[in-house]
Amino acid sequence: MSAIPYEAVIGLEVHVQIKTATKMFCGCRNEFGAEPNTNVCPVCLGYPGALPTPNREAIVKTIATGLMLHCEIAKTCKFDRKNYFYPDMPKNYQISQYDQPLCLGGRIDLYTLAFPKDAQKQEQALNPRSVRLHRIHLEEDVAKSFHFEGYSGIDFNRAGTPLMEIVSEADIRTPEEAFAYLTALKQILIYGNISDADMEKGQMRCDVNVSVRPAGATTFGTKCEIKNLNSISAVRRALAYEIDRQIQIVSQGGTIRQETRRWDDARGQTYVMRTKEQAHDYRYFPDPDLMPIRTDDGLLKEAESLVPELPAAKKKRFQERYGLSEYQASVLASERSFADYFELAAQGAKQPSLVANYLTNDYLAAHDITEPVKIPAAHFAQLANLVDSGKINSKQAREVLAAMFESGEEPEKIVQAKGMTQMSDIAELERLCDEAIAANPRSVADFKAGKEAAINAFKGYIMKATKGKAHPQLMNEILRRKLTEGK
Ligand SMILES: [Zn+2]
Repeated sequence: MSAIPYEAVIGLEVHVQIKTATKMFCGCRNEFGAEPNTNVCPVCLGYPGALPTPNREAIVKTIATGLMLHCEIAKTCKFDRKNYFYPDMPKNYQISQYDQPLCLGGRIDLYTLAFPKDAQKQEQALNPRSVRLHRIHLEEDVAKSFHFEGYSGIDFNRAGTPLMEIVSEADIRTPEEAFAYLTALKQILIYGNISDADMEKGQMRCDVNVSVRPAGATTFGTKCEIKNLNSISAVRRALAYEIDRQIQIVSQGGTIRQETRRWDDARGQTYVMRTKEQAHDYRYFPDPDLMPIRTDDGLLKEAESLVPELPAAKKKRFQERYGLSEYQASVLASERSFADYFELAAQGAKQPSLVANYLTNDYLAAHDITEPVKIPAAHFAQLANLVDSGKINSKQAREVLAAMFESGEEPEKIVQAKGMTQMSDIAELERLCDEAIAANPRSVADFKAGKEAAINAFKGYIMKATKGKAHPQLMNEILRRKLTEGK
């Protein structure tokens, strides 16, 4: 380790495929996984004379993203041609936005649960920061090349599909913050139905810029770019490796070369892809085929109507309205479909917090939060009400839950089938308590000598005799009364 502390300066560029019916500038379908080269036309193949028409849905969804991320929405913007040659770009230019992007500024608020699990107790996760955004612009994606043994193939289905580029300021300081940033961004994109943001499918692609400097310095070190990271955890690992590599070099008096690197996940290393010779000259110029866009032409209103209640607001509402703990509310609100499911289940429950408890503890212990819940929401309400009314106790409820997950059967039917109703017959409980006390004289002496825990011996005896059906509260009251009687 180096003698002086270093800090990392990290900025992220995230490309997000927008979920739209058709491509950015033509009517071809925008779908993942279609047969190669089936969704193509003269416009997206760049035939001479073919004219682009902007996709309203893509523009509206980009504005909606900007609204959700607290950006300033430009009143007007335009599309530019970014000229470069690339085998999977048929026109030899990409339509993008240069100096007039759709969204400016903005921020992403990090939150504790967005951090990797093993870092959630650290200061950076407990008091999470906001990361400022630089801009969001809209462009078209390029085609996709495939490399086979002796040849390469290109699938033009992806050429011309709408792509957002979300550029952060260099506000991120640790690999864990980068992880939280991407998790929080992904959550918002899914919440707003903007994109499925599945990194494995390439729907969200991330490049990172990273440099190091002595902690507290205000100037930037020389940065390296790591391209095309394909999972959020890969971003974390690649950054941890790269920061360490740069600190090693700098602390030994070396200098960092500005270069583009790739991440080898299997080896756990970054390696040089190319060194930066000069800045690219893309010869940007306004696309002569596309008119500037005025966002106040109804686009902004349309985008506003797409913005849902966001996770932070939902979390607050869940705490206030349903009396949930901060943790419960935060877990439930983290996934829009799961939050909707909870609200549906909570509708019929007298104590919604019980439903929240079953969902966040028992259900999530065995299921993934992103998968749709297969059990009808009303079953959770029914189970909570069975406990609430004292028909079954919480221990029995856990057993019903397990059966519910297994068979999908209604809780009431499970309770009936298992002959599970809670025993709250006072006379019978009185008799059992007497029996328990008579059978455990030593525990009686211990309890009377002040050992509170001795009462568990009687409870265990009664639970065993009733196969766990005794009403715990009633049992407790009767036992205490009998044990302290005549004292
Ligand atoms: Zn097309």
